[in-house]
Amino acid sequence: MVRVHGDTGHCWHGMRCAAVLGAAQATSTAPLLRARLLGAARHTMATNLLHVPKPQGLLRPLVVPERLLLGPGPSNVPPRILAAGGQQLLGHMHPEVLQVMDEIKAGIQYAFQTQNRLTLAISGTGHCAMEAALLNLLEHGDTALVAVNGIWGQRAADIARRLGAIVRELWKPPGEYFTPQDIEEGLVRHKPLVLFITHGESSTGVLQPLEGLGELCHRHGCLLLVDAVASLGGAPIFMDQQEIDVLYSGSQKVLNAPPGSAPISFSERAREKILRRKTQPLSFYLDMGWLANYWGCDGEPRRYHHTAPINSFFSLREGLAMLVELGLESSWERHRANCAQLCQGLRDLGLELFVKEEKARLPTITTVRVPKGYDWKEITAFLMENHAIEIAGGLGPSVGKVLRIGLMGCNSTSSNVDRVLHGLRDALRRCHRSQL
Ligand code: PMP
Repeated sequence: MVRVHGDTGHCWHGMRCAAVLGAAQATSTAPLLRARLLGAARHTMATNLLHVPKPQGLLRPLVVPERLLLGPGPSNVPPRILAAGGQQLLGHMHPEVLQVMDEIKAGIQYAFQTQNRLTLAISGTGHCAMEAALLNLLEHGDTALVAVNGIWGQRAADIARRLGAIVRELWKPPGEYFTPQDIEEGLVRHKPLVLFITHGESSTGVLQPLEGLGELCHRHGCLLLVDAVASLGGAPIFMDQQEIDVLYSGSQKVLNAPPGSAPISFSERAREKILRRKTQPLSFYLDMGWLANYWGCDGEPRRYHHTAPINSFFSLREGLAMLVELGLESSWERHRANCAQLCQGLRDLGLELFVKEEKARLPTITTVRVPKGYDWKEITAFLMENHAIEIAGGLGPSVGKVLRIGLMGCNSTSSNVDRVLHGLRDALRRCHRSQL
């Protein structure tokens, strides 16, 4: 705030200021005029003090074009969920918000098919849940085995290394999945405390079979950590029956909520491992002890931990409510059927699916090889410019190799399949094709 020292013509910085001088000379004018002049002086000085001008972009209205988001996420948000996120705020410890948190917890238990009491939503995106899982499970010097067949294994290995864990990797080429034999060999060889594996590998379009992996891990004294950010609600997963110890997902894929909150759940085994820690988790924000209390999972009175992103929770609640209303089986069937229609349509266009085995194809995100002679960037840009449809190129090890088409939650419809196939047909006709 700018203060003016009497009528000396000095502002509080000691600078002689023309506006202040002008105001000083006005001492004989009527008090009202004098006050007005002083106000103007203050305003002018404040303006002069600012070295960074007002950003012009912020003086224009926000413009959000309409687009069909058929990339690997985020997906479009239906009006009901948008409206939930646009509700007025409440205090984050108000009983109504705590009730919403309890409903989210129940929704996640349903979506994950788990009875785990340590079930909640992280205030952050899928990466945040990945970090929360790894940093609560792992201590410095613990061994983690990471199954890498795309970018998510690479990222998990990176995070685990930052935590000081000994990281061992199991490798498969992009487009392939791990068999129980692959996993068992790794468990025998490396004797890890935690195995990380991705259920829906969104960078390659692979659906990892999980049958038997939990039991296998437990036989070898290891916890099973599964990333289901891209698959939850789109492909069957049964946390308790499949003996998964930590499972996490994201809000912006099948759940159709904006990004910013991430469901996560810990089994009793995982909870005990956390309780046995010799050292505190490296993050206060993601410390599961604190979060368990904040989410009412520990039976203690809830204490303030952080200010929850309340409106994100409203949206997530509605996303989960819509999944509950539809039912998991119908949601899985919807994703299966539309993915099958898309795959057939892509083949009819002469395109080659990246994942060979049908049962290993992720129903939420389909990968197709970049057609020979075409530049993938030109195809994605063409669809965006001419059809207002987002599809994506590859990511990490699949960059330059594939196009990725996502059909998630409300975006998984037969008419969206027709729309994207129509756009692709147009792109193949009109994008530049090299003669090489
Ligand atoms: N895991 C998988 C399988 C994903 O598809 C994604 C998002 N593309 C993430 C983790 C990271 O999620 P976020 O971008 O929300 O941090």
